Amino acid sequence: MMPIRITSWVLVLLCSSAPTIAQPTMRVHVDATELPRKLLRSSLEFNAPGDTVTLLYPEWIPGIHAPRGPVQNLAGLVPRDSGGAVLRWERDWSNMYCLLVLRDRDLRPQLTVDLTYITNQPSTNSKGVDAFGAHTLGIINWNTVLLAPEGVDPATLLVELELTLPSGWQAGSALKVASRAGDRIRFEPVTYEQLIDRPLICGLHFREIELARTDGATYWLDMVADEARDLPQADSTLAPLTALVLESEALFGPAPHFGDYRFLLVVSDQAPRLGLEHRESSLNSAKADAFRDLDWISNGLGYLLPHEFVHAWVGKYRRPVGMVTGDFHTDKNTEGLWVYEGLTQYLGNVLAVRSGLMTFDEFRETLVRYTSVRLREQGRQWRPLRDTAVAGYTLRGGSGSWGLLRRGQSYYVEGALTWLDFDARLRERSAGLHNLDEFCRSFFGDGDRQRTTVPFATQDLVQALGRLDPKVDWADLVKTRIEETQERFPADWVESAGYRIELVDEVPASLKKRETRGKFIYLGESLGLTVMNTGEINSVTPGGVADVAGIHPGIVIAGVDGLKFSAYRLRAAVEDSPETGHVELLILDGDRFVIFDLPYDGGRRYWSATRREERIDRLRDIATPRRPTENSNH
Ligand SMILES: [Zn+2]
Repeated sequence: MMPIRITSWVLVLLCSSAPTIAQPTMRVHVDATELPRKLLRSSLEFNAPGDTVTLLYPEWIPGIHAPRGPVQNLAGLVPRDSGGAVLRWERDWSNMYCLLVLRDRDLRPQLTVDLTYITNQPSTNSKGVDAFGAHTLGIINWNTVLLAPEGVDPATLLVELELTLPSGWQAGSALKVASRAGDRIRFEPVTYEQLIDRPLICGLHFREIELARTDGATYWLDMVADEARDLPQADSTLAPLTALVLESEALFGPAPHFGDYRFLLVVSDQAPRLGLEHRESSLNSAKADAFRDLDWISNGLGYLLPHEFVHAWVGKYRRPVGMVTGDFHTDKNTEGLWVYEGLTQYLGNVLAVRSGLMTFDEFRETLVRYTSVRLREQGRQWRPLRDTAVAGYTLRGGSGSWGLLRRGQSYYVEGALTWLDFDARLRERSAGLHNLDEFCRSFFGDGDRQRTTVPFATQDLVQALGRLDPKVDWADLVKTRIEETQERFPADWVESAGYRIELVDEVPASLKKRETRGKFIYLGESLGLTVMNTGEINSVTPGGVADVAGIHPGIVIAGVDGLKFSAYRLRAAVEDSPETGHVELLILDGDRFVIFDLPYDGGRRYWSATRREERIDRLRDIATPRRPTENSNH
């Protein structure tokens, strides 16, 4: 039988360090000295009355949009009473995140809980909010080693945090250091909610670079790396990052809702690839060679850093109302992810091109690539975009088999194209007078540092867009694009932006790079296939040539036109198809060889955006830098 759960708590002040304002307080010491051995330990001290104390391990962590706090990695939970006696605990069988501490003799409210956490084994959804350790560096997301009594408001619970690092390591975080003695750091107190929003990177090889200091804020790049030589110097190679933060002020306004912003970047082959947004920082990673032969698109940072940075406004400062619950446990309605992630994906690319992290050609080709996937995604005929957002975390990771039928986390890219459509539409209809920048500034840019997360509903978006162009039925546009199924993706942005998309036989330069990097062959518009360089069929376009012939994902191409498979031979067979009229594939399906003779004579085919000279190039307008350089001393 379950013990009775007491849901209403009044935390009593810790008598030894009573702050001047009566506020519930928790004292936390995190011991990171064993991070290289994949262990992180914490000791929590707080007051909670009663004979049964209900403790909650953070479950819904902002940013991953999933009830997947990595509770499975706990390797030690030892509660003690005020006299130091170990207390019994048990888990609520109906809630894996709910742990009950049972007190029978000493009922004084003081409680100590020691936690041990195993790092480096995230689940599909927990990567961005997990903890990692390697020989010379580590990532600490505090939610992995925290618990709080049920019923306590995370926005008022004050945490006094101390951290012990491995010998000689440095750390970067949006947390402010109060003092440091040797490897022990004491931070200025923050609330439980703020602490979970301020992860920390640490390591032996650390560099902090000031990117820009404006009237509104100071922007920092904090980095750790496997080896010191992997860290860039503060030189002209980082100029696009300075441009990025200045462009963000030109977009959202010169008075952001933070005083300091930190890009936390782990440059490592030991740590996983991740990116997660926070209100005053972002947690990012890149491969160890990211800054050698620097190419912001190839190393992924040209997409990642602007995306996570935009989230400081879109998602952290303002958030869809269903995702604002004020705690880490109430289920969240994620239907607004087409804005939270989609608008961020769009603005991330816009800021990337405005700041020089990507070229205009890369910007245009990225948008065309997004569009080409949407055009092949037949899953829209049964599943509206809204549903990919509602079910978002169930679609993360996992098998890509028949992904274009199932749909994936389409709210990112299709959300981005929806906002591009809105932007191009506003510009075209107003002859360049109005644009989405105005919407961003009025909706996200009032910069109030006192307010936490400001929620918004779809209706608020519709009203704000309506103020820019009242003649567009924005509510209907949102309904048809987001909430309804579609026969085919409406690529209306192309025309509004002054382009047409057409099939060409020249491989786009950015696709060529992606094919080399990703070791695959893209034949989406020709045979309706994506094939790994090993011959494995990665994706099949529903309704495409290969699909109609009966080919499915996961099987392996062993031969092409009577010869052994190679990437070169497959590409050549497609290229020669106008003369041959077919492509013959020998397929290994399990332990069975099968020949598929595909009737195809279209040659190489790729979508490309071509200018319509009679129209204004709105895409070029969108990509043009806005920064008022006189506002900065850089
Ligand atoms: Zn995001």
